[in-house]
Amino acid sequence: MTGMHQKLHDLYDEVAQRNPGETEFHQAVYEVLTSLDPVVTKHPEYADNAVVRRLCEPERQIIFRVPWIDDCGAVQINRGFRVEFNSALGPFKGGLRFHPSVYLGIVKFLGFEQIFKNSLTGLPIGGGKGGSDFDPKGRSDNEIMRFCQSFMTELYRHIGEYTDVPAGDIGVGAREIGYLFGQYKRITNRWEAGVLTGKGLTWGGSQVRTEATGYGTVFFVDEILRARSDSFDGKRVVVSGSGNVAIYAIEKVQALGGTVVACSDSSGYIVDDKGVDLNLLKEIKEVRRGRITEYADARSHAHFVTGRSVWQVPCDIALPCATQNELSGTDATALIESGCLIVAEGANMPCTPDAVKYFAEAGVTFAPGKAANAGGVATSALEMQQNASRDSWTFEETEARLAEIMGRIHDNCLTTADDYGQPGNYAAGANIAGFIRVADAMLALGLI
Ligand code: NDP
Repeated sequence: MTGMHQKLHDLYDEVAQRNPGETEFHQAVYEVLTSLDPVVTKHPEYADNAVVRRLCEPERQIIFRVPWIDDCGAVQINRGFRVEFNSALGPFKGGLRFHPSVYLGIVKFLGFEQIFKNSLTGLPIGGGKGGSDFDPKGRSDNEIMRFCQSFMTELYRHIGEYTDVPAGDIGVGAREIGYLFGQYKRITNRWEAGVLTGKGLTWGGSQVRTEATGYGTVFFVDEILRARSDSFDGKRVVVSGSGNVAIYAIEKVQALGGTVVACSDSSGYIVDDKGVDLNLLKEIKEVRRGRITEYADARSHAHFVTGRSVWQVPCDIALPCATQNELSGTDATALIESGCLIVAEGANMPCTPDAVKYFAEAGVTFAPGKAANAGGVATSALEMQQNASRDSWTFEETEARLAEIMGRIHDNCLTTADDYGQPGNYAAGANIAGFIRVADAMLALGLI
């Protein structure tokens, strides 16, 4: 671990040893610690008060059984998680993920990242994350509902408007938030809008929340382009995934004049050199909950390729919007060779450490997820504001606030990177700026 302060180095070893087998959590901690060297050198008060060590230990971790009955009448058992990582800046805030790969290490990596991301938004939200190893694929609507009801039957006692406010993530969208909210309301006898975000527009949700993460990522890239007097106009863009974040990233790229030539799901990817037909993609993914192959079946000029190598498709801008560690060092090399200029993470930690290193060496601008995909949680915080004031804003007003927040995050990352001697390094800027805000709050609140 070259270039890392000895104290941070020791702390990383301690985290790895105290949290065995949680490789994604180790990776996320390592990535943040590598940026903090100049900060702890300049501010000894952080080390004196063990701020970084405290940040690496969640305030509370909840693991619970989720029993439910499938459509054949068989009992199914899943595991539920909520990691309440840090509440110095506000109630714990972060999504729920339903995916078979979910285990404590994934939830902790996501919760840890969420602390810095939420801090970067400048809004009053702490960091947390949750989910289950439940696989929604192929499950009927009734099965999804029964699962969500059972999940909330335990989760409800740990959450609340002022305590912990979950939202969606992989496998959890408006349908699931609806079933979760319904069960929370039924158990508590409270119509407490502020307990969940990502709600439907007719029952307490915010305009733009559905679009926010994807739009926000593209706004962030637009800021990068503007800073060099460039624009999306005429750019070839590759997006991975075809879920919530991917679809709305594609929508905003197209609105700003770029052409999205490829997108994917876990089975493979489609290439459409004429530009992805978004209405068709939405019909397949949002309405039919189908597979990406169906896109190539419906468009004779598009083709489908099995596997994960969407990064083989040449592009100017790459937006990984699927899942963690989906873009490897080999993929980064392919992107660099095809002339890619900017990589922005719509997903959480989609680029492996090798990939990030290669981008830096090749001079490819890299926007980390903590900054680039913060628009989702920022708009969740706007949803909380609207709920608290029993108000609802128009689409235009909410989108303008999202764009402004993304602009602020962008400028904060750049200024902070400059201040700490790493001009143009968005990853360092995001880690340092996110860290300082939460660290100062922790100092102010005393040893808690
Ligand atoms: P969705 O469930 O809507 O979509 C996920 C997409 O990624 C699907 O196309 C899915 O394909 C693909 N995918 C998931 N797992 C894998 C895998 N192991 N290998 C290849 N492809 C995979 O989730 P979201 O769009 O909400 O989330 C995507 C990413 O964005 C995640 O990293 C999430 O943490 C992050 N994020 C989401 C926010 C939000 O507001 N929703 C906010 C900030 C970050 P398939 O359907 O085949 O599984």
